[in-house]
Amino acid sequence: MIRRDDETAGHHYVCPCGCQRLYYAPHAVVSGSVETGDLTLTPSLWHNAVGCCGWHGWLRDGVFVSV
Ligand SMILES: [Zn+2]
Repeated sequence: MIRRDDETAGHHYVCPCGCQRLYYAPHAVVSGSVETGDLTLTPSLWHNAVGCCGWHGWLRDGVFVSV
């Protein structure tokens, strides 16, 4: 699940690792969109803050890819 946040120009999404945490990313959009299902963000998504699950990967063409 990925949802664009129009107020902040970022995206909310459920972590793909299975921890079910809701994350927010203000990352730059390389190409695509949520509506067309081919969203690509940069830089990589890294859940490395205190209390986070540690997942690290990319969102490319609407698909989460683990590093
Ligand atoms: Zn996670």
